[in-house]
Amino acid sequence: MFDSRSFDAHESVTYFSDVASGLRGIVAIHSTQLGPALGGCRAWFYDNDEAALQDALRLSRGMSYKNAVAGLPLGGGKAVIIRQPGHVVTEAQFEAFGRVVENLNGRYVTAEDVGVSVKDMSCVARSTSYVSGLPSRGNSAGGDPSPKTAYGVYCGMLAAIQARLLTRNVQGLRIAVQGLGSVGRHLCERLHADGAQLVVADINRAACEMAREKFGAEIVPVEEILFRDVDVIAPCALGGILNEQSIPKIRATVIAGGANNQLATPEDGLSLHQRHILYAPDYVINAGGIICAAAEYLHTGNEAEVWERVARIEQTLAEIFRESAAKNTPPHQVADALALQRLAQEPHAGPSTMKGVA
Ligand code: NAD
Repeated sequence: MFDSRSFDAHESVTYFSDVASGLRGIVAIHSTQLGPALGGCRAWFYDNDEAALQDALRLSRGMSYKNAVAGLPLGGGKAVIIRQPGHVVTEAQFEAFGRVVENLNGRYVTAEDVGVSVKDMSCVARSTSYVSGLPSRGNSAGGDPSPKTAYGVYCGMLAAIQARLLTRNVQGLRIAVQGLGSVGRHLCERLHADGAQLVVADINRAACEMAREKFGAEIVPVEEILFRDVDVIAPCALGGILNEQSIPKIRATVIAGGANNQLATPEDGLSLHQRHILYAPDYVINAGGIICAAAEYLHTGNEAEVWERVARIEQTLAEIFRESAAKNTPPHQVADALALQRLAQEPHAGPSTMKGVA
């Protein structure tokens, strides 16, 4: 593992299994430098254990950077549950996963990611208190993070089109949305309400039909969505889609979407910059959900305050794009430098297991 291409001085990696429920997975804690490592749990199908490890390592590092740039007093971690083809993750498995989280004594705090719902997190919460993304009560922050993630992506997209297309209005723009799950669907709602022309693709045909009906979206094959003649691409499915093969064929001039790890390699961020395609760094633009989960876990804000904080993603990205243009440096490099600067400068003062800071 230490020689693995995605290993980046991670603090710890825990492999877990629960024989009784058939649960298997990995928790990677990249950093607790700024606080407990908060990051979602992904339940996904992997070709092999190595692929699951790579995902956990990359995603947990991304969480450290995401939390740092969002100004949260939290480190970065991520869990993956290895799903078996044809099986759903059971309540017993989520409870067993909660015991794994509990045994990490608060160094890792879990929440939803792909394949995991608020209901699933409620099962996890039976076994641990180191959990966020639980149903919200009254006007307290909490619940499904995806509407906040989508709102952050929307706000970040405004910064991106302002920087590249010199407008802050999506009306009439052609926007390709890849993936119509929790984030993609909420994003489409906002863009449609603002008069954007949507082009969509999803491996789930029913999700595409929903987008056609509700938003008048044009459906295109999944293998073509990145290469259509559109102004903006919003990747909202899985990672690694911006790579050596795809980048030369992209016609959009802005990429601004919610998926994690969109760049297959850092060099792909450089290729986009050289092709004059403005890329909104994924962990900056998709921080809305974690901003909400952090406020819920740390009790540091209500719903209204969370929406306000998420809206500030527009400003953060505008600053990144300004610096990128001024220094002729790709935006992902500007964002990485900002994250590393914060990780180096703001050591976490309290115990790394802090919970419920008012
Ligand atoms: P989701 O599982 O609800 O939706 C993903 C969608 O992508 C599904 O509809 C799926 O059918 C579709 N999809 C899968 N492979 C595809 C392909 N090859 N082409 C087109 N569509 C495909 O997940 P989500 O919560 O909407 O998250 C989407 C992305 O955003 C993920 O990368 C996730 O890590 C990231 N993200 C989500 C949140 C959040 O709050 N949910 C926060 C930050 C980042």
